[in-house]
Amino acid sequence: MLIIMQNDATEGQIQAVSEYILSLGYTPQPVPGIQQTNICVLGNKNRVESTHIELMPGVKEVIHVTKPYKLVSKESKERSVVTVGTCEFGSASLPVIAGPCSVEDRTMYLDIAEILKTLGAAALRGGAFKPRTSPYAFQGLGEEGLKILAEARERTGLPVCTEVMDTSSVDIVSDYADIVQIGARNMYNYSLLRAVGRKNRAVMLKRGFAANITEFLMAAEYIVSEGNWNVILCERGIRTFEEKTRFTLDLSAIPVIQELSHLPIIVDPSHASGRWNAVLPLARAAVAVGADGIIVEVHQNPLEALSDGTQSLKPEKFERMMNEIRSIAPTVGRTV
Ligand code: PEP
Ligand code: MN
Repeated sequence: MLIIMQNDATEGQIQAVSEYILSLGYTPQPVPGIQQTNICVLGNKNRVESTHIELMPGVKEVIHVTKPYKLVSKESKERSVVTVGTCEFGSASLPVIAGPCSVEDRTMYLDIAEILKTLGAAALRGGAFKPRTSPYAFQGLGEEGLKILAEARERTGLPVCTEVMDTSSVDIVSDYADIVQIGARNMYNYSLLRAVGRKNRAVMLKRGFAANITEFLMAAEYIVSEGNWNVILCERGIRTFEEKTRFTLDLSAIPVIQELSHLPIIVDPSHASGRWNAVLPLARAAVAVGADGIIVEVHQNPLEALSDGTQSLKPEKFERMMNEIRSIAPTVGRTV
């Protein structure tokens, strides 16, 4: 249940409603809005009787949320804009996060960071802790990689996005990153979701490749239910019977999720396809379908990349991608 307060509701009235919810044995969760704070009721299994609440001073209306996810649903909030430095996810702008799959070494990373800034990237990506299919593959530089990311941010002024793989590294990754990424393989890791929910860093939550949209939104609900509203969803492809691409980009998830949730959703055409020559057309499609941003892998020398070289764009291809999406964006009311 969601309690919509009047625009001029006082702190005392909000407090009184919260206390009444507590007295019923449920948890009141404040939902920050533009005009006023609303209150979401958590912990009820059945419909909560609302006659008394509707009559309380400061209450405008009561909405019975019909979805299993409450805080991330459109019923609780119209639209969220997640602001990270100068980037806005969910507004009329369309930020592009770009960088190599992994931070491989200092020179390589600082070099690509400068190039990407010049070409118009709004934020940088790069894994320091890498979830690899093989335990023998490059696992990332760990804390050294985080330090390189921080140096790249200092030099370029761009925010950095990097993955956190387990609860034990949430503190250290949140200390360095501007956007903490939860990878597809960890979308179902509920203790990790709760842990990043207790931080006030923006979180980019990737869709698990076998997760349906409800499960994806429930994973986001875990983060928000801990108090962190700065969640950016990322569609990165799901597993289908098709073998010619690494995954299948579910473009229809974008309008469907935008109808169900207020959270911004971006698209990762790199992991979705696994092939660099599919990245540009999929990025164009993502912008056309209304994505709130793009995250893309770029490497100076993809053939030598320590991870995901086959799907990485060279800088000149990234430049072309930027030019093309810049011309498509205005047709859907956006600017890159
Ligand atoms: C990545 O971003 O490099 C990554 C591992 O992504 P995903 O979790 O979507 O596979
Ligand atoms: Mn990758």
